[in-house]
Amino acid sequence: MKHIDIKDILNDKTYLGKTVTVCGWVRTFRDSSQVAFLELADGTCFSRLQAVVDKNAVVLGSECSKTGAALCVTGEVVKAFKGDGVELNAKDVQLLGKCPPEYPIQKKRTTLEFLRGIPHLRLRTNTFTAVFKVRSVAAQAIHRYFHEHGYYYINTPIITASDCEGAGEMFRVTTQPYGAKCASEAEYYQNDFFGQKAGLSVSGQLEGEVAATAFSKIYTFGPSFRAENSNTTRHLAEFWHIEPEVAFAELPDIIEIAEEMLKYVIRAVLDECAEEIGFFDSFIEKGLKEKLLGVVNSQFAVCDYTEAVELLKKADAKFQYPVEWGCDLQTEHEKYLTEVIFKKPVFVTNYPKAIKSFYMKQNADGKTVAATDLLVPGIGEIIGCSEREADLEKLLTAMKERKMDVNAYKQYLDLRTFGSVPHSGFGLGFERFVMYVTGMENIRDVTLFPRSVNNIM
Ligand code: ATP
Ligand code: MN
Repeated sequence: MKHIDIKDILNDKTYLGKTVTVCGWVRTFRDSSQVAFLELADGTCFSRLQAVVDKNAVVLGSECSKTGAALCVTGEVVKAFKGDGVELNAKDVQLLGKCPPEYPIQKKRTTLEFLRGIPHLRLRTNTFTAVFKVRSVAAQAIHRYFHEHGYYYINTPIITASDCEGAGEMFRVTTQPYGAKCASEAEYYQNDFFGQKAGLSVSGQLEGEVAATAFSKIYTFGPSFRAENSNTTRHLAEFWHIEPEVAFAELPDIIEIAEEMLKYVIRAVLDECAEEIGFFDSFIEKGLKEKLLGVVNSQFAVCDYTEAVELLKKADAKFQYPVEWGCDLQTEHEKYLTEVIFKKPVFVTNYPKAIKSFYMKQNADGKTVAATDLLVPGIGEIIGCSEREADLEKLLTAMKERKMDVNAYKQYLDLRTFGSVPHSGFGLGFERFVMYVTGMENIRDVTLFPRSVNNIM
């Protein structure tokens, strides 16, 4: 159908005075004796276009005024009666699809919780139009950042045999029929599609390391799957994961890269989504714009884990979980550090090795690893990052301490046998990043069709 995007009509002054055709859905309808006002949205931008219908000159079918109806309107672009924008003097209004009154997106009932029950329709609201614009702009900016900095974009397998860190959060992939008769677990997997146990990848890191030790700088941007049995506002069973991996980089280098990349992407969102950020600032998180400007214009904090524990122990706060050196930081601790103590994003570095993964570089103190989590106000962890252990013997020791099956990691170990180099990488949860820049508080509200325990709508 020949028509013009509403975004172009609103932004491109050359349409003024021209006759154009637009398509979209009715957001609101107001009527008076002579004229009717239709607010149309087509999702190409946050704003809507008002069509003014002179009822003496144009036939307006009764279905055309219903909220949610799909219309095709032809008319002249004129200066708006109010404000300095434009509106459409309708000459012809065609109904493309009617929308009966059961349409669930009526003005009064639209709480985020209610909308979660209609994921296929909630995208037609202001909030979700804004969320997905930001999400799209951020994704493009992430690709642009890495492309401009000479990274290869690689795609790691989604079905894998390794579960990255033996965390046991992996979904199984199988073609075995229900009730398959097997004498043992081993036989069950032998008879399965791959002849061994397989699952959905929790992270592309191990394969990312393979590519980084050939191409120096790589990143992945794809889905990761975790059978998280927790129902939090920050976890999904399926999320999008950005994982750069950089050879010849130590922990301080990768920290610099992570900070630079985040600022680049936030700047892109501020530039390209000014209207959406304004909306979030007004209706979702007061002060959001200032927060983001503050982030791009200041340095993130860096704090050693040992120091963070001291700060938390001295903190004037009641925590549900006590803090001691050696414990994993809980979300309440992470939030306290970033929201109360530092009041900005903070990299917590050098965690105790016992609570972190086998592949992280062991520090000289024998107790900690060169790992860091980036914590941000409102969410907690958005990045998990580390320098990887490049020393074969040390890596083997760490694996044996964790009772891992060394034979299953032959390829990974080969990287330490053949031209091993210092290298580092991180994993950024894309949805958590989108939450941070939009102020949305539930990860289910920045994902098209969120998957979590007991929820696959
Ligand atoms: P958390 O402690 O919050 O569960 P994690 O330590 O398991 O996170 P990593 O394994 O380091 O996380 O993964 C890297 C990043 O991926 C995290 O910092 C987070 O942004 C994101 N992430 C991890 N698990 C999930 C999930 N279930 N849903 C959405 N994002 C996730
Ligand atoms: Mn987790």
